[in-house]
Amino acid sequence: MQRIFLSHQSDDKPIVRQVQSELLLMGAEPFFDELSILNGEIIPGRIEDALETVNVFVLFWSATAAKSDWVKVERQAAWAKFRADEQGFLVVMLDDTPLPETLAYKKYIKADTEEAREIIAREILGLQHGARLIKAVQNTLETWGIDVAFNEGYGPYAGCPSCGAGTPEIEEFVVPDPTRETTYGYIRCTKCKWSGGGGEVSSY
Ligand SMILES: [Zn+2]
Repeated sequence: MQRIFLSHQSDDKPIVRQVQSELLLMGAEPFFDELSILNGEIIPGRIEDALETVNVFVLFWSATAAKSDWVKVERQAAWAKFRADEQGFLVVMLDDTPLPETLAYKKYIKADTEEAREIIAREILGLQHGARLIKAVQNTLETWGIDVAFNEGYGPYAGCPSCGAGTPEIEEFVVPDPTRETTYGYIRCTKCKWSGGGGEVSSY
């Protein structure tokens, strides 16, 4: 499982929390380290320990983050660990604040669209590639014990896309069309009455 460190200033928590829940849905383990400061004092070595188990470090960069000593400590510790690993250190730009010189050439993600949290989460997980996306979906199915079924007229399904009922609540049915000598397959939710499908079914 991908362990993802979300480094941010507390003013930016709303967007960070959204990205965090999106990452959870995608089967990753996002976290931030709130144990490294005790009574306002940074505990030496604590952040290095926290970074030890992390696959990806994400820096949420903004005007307030740029002024935070704490974000600076995390950023420098992470840079020491990830400087040779391009994929491991990501920057999310929350506004136009310029990056510090050491990171100036880093590829960054801009968080200025409606779908920013999903784009960020996808980018963080490097899910642009189909294989990784499939692994993440499969991992999520296994982690949560979600059953998947297949219907010829609809395709694969984990449950009702409308109310979230699982596969036991889904009924499959077919509608023959004698004039065309063909049959169409559908699925229907017994809980909320949603139905979908309509693909041709081969043998009935
Ligand atoms: Zn339903």
